[in-house]
This record gives sequence, structure tokens and C-alpha cells, in this order.
Amino acid sequence: MKNEFTVFGSGISAKITSYLLAKNGFNLCLISDKDKNQEPSDTNLVTFLSSGSLNYLSLMFPNLQLLMEHPPIETVQCQLNSLSKRKSQTIEFNDEEKGTLGKIVNNSDLEKYLDEEINKLGNINRIGFDQLKKVENTSEGVDLKLRNGENIMSELFILSSTKKNIAEQIKIKLIEKDLKQEALSISIKGEIKNENCAFQKFTPDGPIALLPYAKDKASVVWSLKTNSKILLKQKEELTEIVQKHLKEYITEVKIVSIEKHKLKFVYSKNLFYKNTVLIGNVAHNIHPIAGQGLNLSIKDIALFVKQVTKYKSLGYKLNDPMILEEFETNRKVDNAIYSFGTFALNGILSSDNKFVNLTTRKGLGLIEKSKHLKQFFVRSATGREFFRLF
Ligand SMILES: Cc1cc2nc3c(=O)[nH]c(=O)nc-3n(C[C@H](O)[C@H](O)[C@H](O)COP(=O)(O)OP(=O)(O)OC[C@H]3O[C@@H](n4cnc5c(N)ncnc54)[C@H](O)[C@@H]3O)c2cc1C
Repeated sequence: MKNEFTVFGSGISAKITSYLLAKNGFNLCLISDKDKNQEPSDTNLVTFLSSGSLNYLSLMFPNLQLLMEHPPIETVQCQLNSLSKRKSQTIEFNDEEKGTLGKIVNNSDLEKYLDEEINKLGNINRIGFDQLKKVENTSEGVDLKLRNGENIMSELFILSSTKKNIAEQIKIKLIEKDLKQEALSISIKGEIKNENCAFQKFTPDGPIALLPYAKDKASVVWSLKTNSKILLKQKEELTEIVQKHLKEYITEVKIVSIEKHKLKFVYSKNLFYKNTVLIGNVAHNIHPIAGQGLNLSIKDIALFVKQVTKYKSLGYKLNDPMILEEFETNRKVDNAIYSFGTFALNGILSSDNKFVNLTTRKGLGLIEKSKHLKQFFVRSATGREFFRLF
């Protein structure tokens, strides 16, 4: 069997990529990296989707009401507590031009929606991981050997899974660092003072974020050191601690569910190797502190799909190194800035060094005072400039 693409992965990035390629007329095989073929993950994780990502997705996908029903986030407030007894310092971001910074979306809902849309398309062949035996780079493309003896040849292989064995088989080198942190993802109900405002507080234990996605529903994401005692707290005690930290933003907190996610830094210097392209967390897995992980991947996907569609219509082979180099070059700077920037930011904001703390306060003070600087950050984080090209 011959396809133009094979996409390997079960995450949101793999599904958005597959849908968009198929919509542009490409035939592809989507291989799940889970044991069972199609099940979406059942997680309480949410994602802050920037207004740029949302506008792009709503242009590309039909009936995206699911994402549109959530209240828009119009303000992001960040609060830094001082190590000394001085007052806490707050910095606020708004989009003065567009009004909306983005929306908070439930990952499971998004995955379910993507699955439904993918299943409506005739040119995506979905197969399970259990059917895959070996992946081989050849001069023509990528050869997938299935357990039933069949082969699937593709011009390009899109790796969108963090399952190690495949990245190793293809000999891709990644920069990886264990952040020695775990994120508590807590789904809560309560009386939210302003559902259009997301809030992040830099506590001595780590950054805690309140992400509202309905009038009375929000997600709390708290990044903590792996040895933090907070990770061991039971529901009742945790409710009290969360309520105390977020009292100005939500009252009557009730915890619905708690998940723990190990945080890891991954950065791949290259977005392609021979006939393989990396898309999603496998290419850059960044700290959730800036809410940019999936937003970065959506930018990668948008550019990749646009480029392969353009070059295919001009008669190029999809694995022409020129196309892949152009894609990599155009995404390198943005990916590196956010990957290493969030890595550094996490270190600076969680530092208990008095000098670093004082310098950070001064820096935040300068940003808060400068309208231009704040709008520069907003333009970048909302992806507004980037998505203007689409
Ligand atoms: C706490 C938290 C908060 C976040 N908040 C935001 C946000 O606000 N905004 C934003 O843009 N992004 C955010 N992100 C990042 C965002 O969730 C991911 O970028 C998004 O889920 C897309 O992932 P993906 O499809 O690229 O990869 P994944 O979801 O990692 O999936 C890739 C594939 O790898 C597999 N896989 C995943 N983990 C494992 C494992 N341990 N072992 C084996 N296989 C595995 C999956 O089955 C999947 O097929 C957050 C992440 C976390 C952890």
C-alpha cells in the first residue's frame, strides 16, 4: 500500500495534522500509539488556546462551537510574591486591539471532536499500534512493516508520539531534561469572580494557575517540585490550600478531580530527519507556565500543511529536503524562544535567591509600566502576527 503520509501518534497534534492533511487532499495512514485503536484520552487537562490558534482552527474545522462556547479570556493576571515581607506584585495583560486573548479548552473534548471529524474523512486509514512491527527510512520514503506481513510506504513519516522506541529507531536526537517537577491538574467548581480572567500566582512552592472555562468551572494547574508535600495532600486539605491561594478570584471551591503530570523539557534541534518530520510535544515539550505548548505545535502544523500543499501543487516530491528545510528554518526561532524562554522563566520565577527575586520584581515593574512592551508580549503569545499569513 502507498500513502503520501503516515502520522504516528494519538495526541491532539497528531489528530489536527492528520485532519488538515486529509482535508487538503492527501492520503494518509494514522497509526495510534495506544494499544487500542481510537480511544481519546480521558484527562482533566485543559489548554489555553490563543486567539490566533482559535481563529485558525475555526477557519479550518467545521462546527467548532464546542470551543466557542467557553468564555473568552480577556485578561491574564500574574502575581509574584516576594521572599521578604513586601507586598505582592501584579502584572496584567490585555489585548488592546482584539479584546480576546484566547479560551480555555478541555483536552478530552477537543480530542473527541477531532476523532469525530477524522472519522468522517475517507482518506485517513486508522490502524492500531499493535499492528506495527518496524519503521524503516528508505531512499523513497518510510517503510512501515506490519505484523500481518503487509507494508505501508509513505513519502513522509510524521512522528507525533513520545513513545521512545520509534524516535530511537529513526535515530532522532533530542535535548531532554527532567524538570524534577510535577503538575497537579485539578478540576474545580466554585463561584468564579470573573470568568474572563485567567490568573497565575508564583508561590514559593511553584506557579499556580486558575483557568476558568465556564461561569462556575475552572482548572487549577500547579507546578510543584517532585518532593513537594502538596503532591501528597488529600482532597480536603488540598481544597483549603487552593482556596487560600485563589481567594480573590474564586470562592466555594469544590475539587472534582485531581491528576498529576510529570513535567519534562524536550527540544529537538531539527524538525526533520531524512523522511521523518516531528510534530507536537515530541519536537518541543515545554513548561506549562506560559500556556504555549499546543499553541506552538498548532503554528508548526499550520505552516507545514500550507507548505506541503503548495509544493505538491508545484510538482515537488513531499520529502524534497528543500521543503523540509524551509519548514524547519521558518519555525526554528519561535520554537527556540518559547522552549528555552519558558525553561528560563520557570527557573527565575521559582528561584529563592534574594538577588534574582529583586531583579525579577524590577523587570516585572518595567514591563507593567511599558504599554508597548506588554503589547509586544501579547501579540506574540496570541499568535496574531503569525496567523496573519493564513
Ligand atoms: C499541566 C499541563 C498544562 C498545559 N497547558 C497548556 C496550555 O495552557 N496551552 C498550551 O498550548 N499547551 C499546554 N500544555 C501542553 C499541551 O497539553 C500539549 O502540547 C498537547 O496536549 C499536545 O500534545 P501532543 O499531541 O503534541 O502530544 P501528547 O499529548 O504528549 O501526545 C503525543 C503522543 O504521545 C503519547 N504519550 C504521551 N505521553 C506518553 C507517555 N508518558 N508514554 C508513552 N506515550 C505517551 C500519546 O499517546 C500521544 O499519542 C499543557 C501541558 C501540561 C502537562
